[in-house]
Amino acid sequence: MIITKTREEIELMRESALVVSKTLGMLATEVKPGVTTLHLDKLAEEFIRDHGAIPGFLGLYDFPNTLCMSPNAQVVHGIPNNTPLVEGDIISIDCGAIKNDFYGDHAYTFPVGEVSEEVKQLLKVTKESLYIGIAEFKLGNRVGDVGYAIQQFTEDAGYGVVRELVGHGLGRKMHEDPEMPNYGRRGKGKKFIEGMVVAIEPMTNMGTHRIKQLRDGWTILTNDGKPSAHFEHDVAIVDGKPEILSTFKYIYKALGIESDEEDAFRQELLTV
Ligand code: MG
Ligand code: MG
Repeated sequence: MIITKTREEIELMRESALVVSKTLGMLATEVKPGVTTLHLDKLAEEFIRDHGAIPGFLGLYDFPNTLCMSPNAQVVHGIPNNTPLVEGDIISIDCGAIKNDFYGDHAYTFPVGEVSEEVKQLLKVTKESLYIGIAEFKLGNRVGDVGYAIQQFTEDAGYGVVRELVGHGLGRKMHEDPEMPNYGRRGKGKKFIEGMVVAIEPMTNMGTHRIKQLRDGWTILTNDGKPSAHFEHDVAIVDGKPEILSTFKYIYKALGIESDEEDAFRQELLTV
């Protein structure tokens, strides 16, 4: 059952999303060669609590940490550890926070120092596919329209779309209806309605779409050992159109990157 949100609830969810956005922005300049993912995890937990929120992943389904940290061939759900990042790595940081009883949940894949051209391309295409998917999240469309758009764009670029893990509805629970796959068929699946809030999150593999799970019961990695990227936004349907509640602007501000990629999906421009 899809639980729609009122305008007031959507504004509360924007606050929850922005706690995560600011956390990722804080981490942006901390991601560098030599730093451990466990150190970044501690920084994030402290930051979230200092902002009047609760880490959303810690303890959820018994996950042991605040962040899912998935470097290189890890797709998602990596557990922070004491292995230092090295130049040329990529690291997907997925973060959740609870504020006003609502979850925020989004993710960004950071390059660590200078990365190869082919890895840069993987990051670029995966992030572009996120916005291509978001554009289809509007009144009159269905779940399959978002998945179809992401899949076509990703496969045209020669990459693999992960099947087993999907986006999801978001609200007072971290995972609500509907599931939002990054693949699909046009015009199929549940119909989008006003007040829906979902997390759209393409997980894109440079090689095969096939994945496996480590014996830790969490970490998902690519079958062929090639890198995988992951970007995620929280999006509501407001006046029939997609409205992004989260933002990467704190990341871009920290890193000195100019971007207007989100502006078409926000009714009021967000100044950070
Ligand atoms: Mg997430
Ligand atoms: Mg999610």
